[in-house]
Amino acid sequence: MHGYPFALQRLINEVSKLPGVGPRMAERIAFYMLKKESDYMDNFASILEAVKKITFCPLCFNVSEGGQCSICADDSRDASVLCVVESPEDIITVERTGKFKGYYHVLNGLISPVDGIMPEKLKLGELNARVKKTGGLKEVILAVNHTVEGDATVLYAVSLIKENGSFKITRLAKGLPTGSDIRYADELTLGQAITERKEI
Ligand SMILES: [Zn+2]
Repeated sequence: MHGYPFALQRLINEVSKLPGVGPRMAERIAFYMLKKESDYMDNFASILEAVKKITFCPLCFNVSEGGQCSICADDSRDASVLCVVESPEDIITVERTGKFKGYYHVLNGLISPVDGIMPEKLKLGELNARVKKTGGLKEVILAVNHTVEGDATVLYAVSLIKENGSFKITRLAKGLPTGSDIRYADELTLGQAITERKEI
């Protein structure tokens, strides 16, 4: 049986490992690339090379082009409010609503014992250390989904940080459908959930 040339097969194999891409789709994508001019490949390779330089902000764990992220580096933001999110993608979603001007803290996931994600794997210890040393902190918004994992994470985070300052702890209003992902909420709905956040 004849197979594809080695380099092409390697490309198909790699593409098929991407989330949501099955073997047939991987073949389609690989052939799409193959039919493009070589400039396309060069450009693609240089994009991947540039992405290798993306790191994580040492303060909030957002994506960064080296050192602190652009949000942490912006001292015009409101240091009295901290918004805790599951992942860097959520920061972009919240930013698009235009309803939040404070700083962020990325947890890098939510507590989920069935998936083996325990509190120690998340940036909860870092959150605790951060709230302790942030002077003038008035509010910590837990902007995580209303799911089993989100609820477990909120419970844990509240018990961890509540005695460490005089800030209030709030959670997004349930304007978002239960079990839904804030990442896929429209700006208006999420903006409303931020405005109508509830104190825990
Ligand atoms: Zn940052």
